[in-house]
Amino acid sequence: MTTPSASPRETLDAESFYSKLSHLPTLIYWGIHGLALMALFTKPSAGILALALAMFWVRMFAITGGYHRYFSHKTYKTSRAFQFVLALLGTTCVQKGPLWWAGIHRIHHRESDVPGKDPHSPKDGFWYSHAGWVQDPRWEPTPFREIKDLTRYPELRWLNRWHFVPPAVVGVTIYALGGWPALAWGFFLSTVVLWHSTYTINSLSHLFGSRRYETGDTSRNNPWLAILTLGEGWHNNHHHYMASCRNGFFWWEWDPTYYVLRLLGAVGLVWDIREPPASALEPRQELPEAA
Ligand SMILES: [Zn+2]
Ligand SMILES: [Zn+2]
Repeated sequence: MTTPSASPRETLDAESFYSKLSHLPTLIYWGIHGLALMALFTKPSAGILALALAMFWVRMFAITGGYHRYFSHKTYKTSRAFQFVLALLGTTCVQKGPLWWAGIHRIHHRESDVPGKDPHSPKDGFWYSHAGWVQDPRWEPTPFREIKDLTRYPELRWLNRWHFVPPAVVGVTIYALGGWPALAWGFFLSTVVLWHSTYTINSLSHLFGSRRYETGDTSRNNPWLAILTLGEGWHNNHHHYMASCRNGFFWWEWDPTYYVLRLLGAVGLVWDIREPPASALEPRQELPEAA
């Protein structure tokens, strides 16, 4: 017997649901860009600027500390309740549900830089790897077979299916409390900046930066991207040893996602935070090319 994951019927329902809406995600994607642009014509107060910054950084952590280092790679452990909090926070980033995100990301690591198989490799074109793949119907369904460890939680399956509900609730709440300027800056603009900052790890961090490890793909370490993405810029480190919770392997490699997770560990919300073993830190001697 296999572990009951998403039942075939449920998977089918979710897929037929999305196929009916096939043009809607693209419309929403560009619509949110348009609304974000309109924010630039609205003068924000100091409070609204602070809201926009908080919405960016808190949700960036939801992606890096939650969707990436927890759901995709299980680099630490937590309770079922806090796992739900991480998933819920992740859905507010408007990057679909935790099961979809983790499944697609696991394919990225398995098929790294294999043209046509890696969902977002610059080898398929820079813009495709940055944001084009998000519009590609090929990557629209949740790859359920990649995430059998996660599908046994009905609350995660529910959030994955109704991923657009929490961000809609956040948007309506911000509008109710602060009107259009708060919605434009705190939700639309911060969401678009969050999207493109996240996408730099798919595009730029496979193109620009240094390579400490021979990983067999094009991943790079880029300190500027590490600043923008709370530590995800150490992408060559990450491709080298993805089971590690810390992407900055050394103290000088800025990795605030890891520092926050350590803090959460100190108060008991997360535990078993995985570190890279000493042997993984050593860059292997590059072997001379076979003649
Ligand atoms: Zn990863
Ligand atoms: Zn990568």
